[in-house]
Amino acid sequence: MHYNGWPVAQGRPDPPRRGSNGSAGSEPETPMSETTTRLAPSPTGALHLGNLRTFLVNYLLARQRGWKVLMRIEDIDGPRVKPDAAEAMLAELKWLGLDWSEPVKWQLRDMSAYESALGRLVALGAAYPCVCSRKDVLTAAGAPHAEDGVFAYPGTCRGLYASAEEALARTGRPAAWRVKVEAGAIEVADRFAGAREFDLTRTCGDFVIYRSQRLPAYQLAVVVDDAEAGVDAIVRGDDLLESAARQIHLRRLLDIGPEPAYWHLPLVVGPDGRRLAKRHGDTRLAYYHGIGATPQRILGLLAAWSGAIESPREISLEEMIERFDLARMPAAPTVFTDADDRFLRGK
Ligand code: GLU
Repeated sequence: MHYNGWPVAQGRPDPPRRGSNGSAGSEPETPMSETTTRLAPSPTGALHLGNLRTFLVNYLLARQRGWKVLMRIEDIDGPRVKPDAAEAMLAELKWLGLDWSEPVKWQLRDMSAYESALGRLVALGAAYPCVCSRKDVLTAAGAPHAEDGVFAYPGTCRGLYASAEEALARTGRPAAWRVKVEAGAIEVADRFAGAREFDLTRTCGDFVIYRSQRLPAYQLAVVVDDAEAGVDAIVRGDDLLESAARQIHLRRLLDIGPEPAYWHLPLVVGPDGRRLAKRHGDTRLAYYHGIGATPQRILGLLAAWSGAIESPREISLEEMIERFDLARMPAAPTVFTDADDRFLRGK
């Protein structure tokens, strides 16, 4: 039922920033309501207060709206994946009281669906082999904004090679695969961030969907997995808003739809306004767990951050499900302060 065309996200019943005001057990708002979401951690580091906040809000929405929760470990991210990080994340999420449907999906365990999606894109003439290194791309003439870290691939390899084998034979380099993008706006009708438009020729250019190590890139894997599992509600950090446009582009090419509903949430930042990271000290859940913070205390901080309570206090997951209201969740990034840290330490 998820494969019958791809109507764009117009006429959605749930305008951005209004949420459902649903409390636990409330009925889905309309017959078009979503049914299935997923938590999709990348085991490239530990669960910290930033990614945890996103997973928790995703889980709260799921419990309020009756969505099925799937768990997907995004372990295709090659060298960045840390051994045992996934198991540790799952254990910590369970410790906090979150649950999900079994079995857990591990992307690396079966490449066949990604291979076949690549095959379909190649057959459509929508994908081509590329031997450019990252450095080539950055230094290519016409790569704008490279100094900001935002640059569009200028299409150097487009039309040059009939196959990955030919690209390797002619250049001595193993080829990755890129998908072609076209000029024009792709709208992400985000339920939290509002409607946003992206022209992929400007934000990224033809982008990588398969890496030269025969591994799917994140963008393709997400689209294939979400479609296969019937995911129709995607909640994640707003650093992935532009990725949503790429994923909509891939869904349209692959004719998998309808589009899922998106909620891209603000990130948690340090006092310097930068995304929460090691430079802000140890913000791992495991760290606070280790020094004696209870799940109720950690949830209490996240509840205050998410507008469910006025200021941090210990709270149960069930109470948080009752109190959380997406419409009251701040739209600005959350700042993790020293006072928050002291609260978690029980001081
Ligand atoms: N694996 C990504 C992350 O941990 C999430 C990807 C997604 O939700 O599409 O940030």
